Amino acid sequence: MANPNSKSWLTQQRIKERKNFRLLDWSKDLKDQGFYRGLPCPYEHTIRDSTHHWCYQCVLKIQTGLCGLDINYVHEDFSHYAVKALEMIDVGNPKECWPVTALDRHGKPKRFAFPDYKQNAKEIAPNKLTLKKIMYTLFWGDTGKEVVTNLPGCTNPTCCNPLHLTTIYNRDATPRKMFNYLDLNRDDRKINLLLNRHLKNYRIEDLLKQEYRPTISAI
Ligand SMILES: [Zn+2]
Ligand SMILES: [Zn+2]
Repeated sequence: MANPNSKSWLTQQRIKERKNFRLLDWSKDLKDQGFYRGLPCPYEHTIRDSTHHWCYQCVLKIQTGLCGLDINYVHEDFSHYAVKALEMIDVGNPKECWPVTALDRHGKPKRFAFPDYKQNAKEIAPNKLTLKKIMYTLFWGDTGKEVVTNLPGCTNPTCCNPLHLTTIYNRDATPRKMFNYLDLNRDDRKINLLLNRHLKNYRIEDLLKQEYRPTISAI
């Protein structure tokens, strides 16, 4: 049985409390369950936690350990920002650190404008996010106010390799060595599918599943 005075037990309890994750009962009112419909995440989900603003479906996904990005399959409002943010990072192979190459005049990693729970793509100017937060949001999911940090084994403090990044939602998952899927190149066939998804009543997730079924069966 767990010793309630041990440090690890206390840490566990704190994480559980801070996680504050609960499954949504779709038959009941969102507000009564501490959720609201807010601004979309890069995957077009809109249900968020009322206090910490994390995206319900993203956090559900993060907890399965799934990590990947297909630049052609993100919400239209985000793709321009996503491409620019990736240009500010030295994207290497999945096992390497990906340091920020865009530095400010003090030599610190630049922050970058990106839509989030409090600013949509059209009202974005004043509120800039760290590139770590942006990469985590694109590859893992939108965790609202939750802080993104580097895993202990990562040796570069500016590293933005999503496999080296963590929040309370994937901290206890075994670190992955590979992405479930990765495509950072523009692909007109895929963009066409994205832009026409509403005609077929597809969600972005459906397009990802269709493209990467063998490697993302966990969604
Ligand atoms: Zn989401
Ligand atoms: Zn790293």
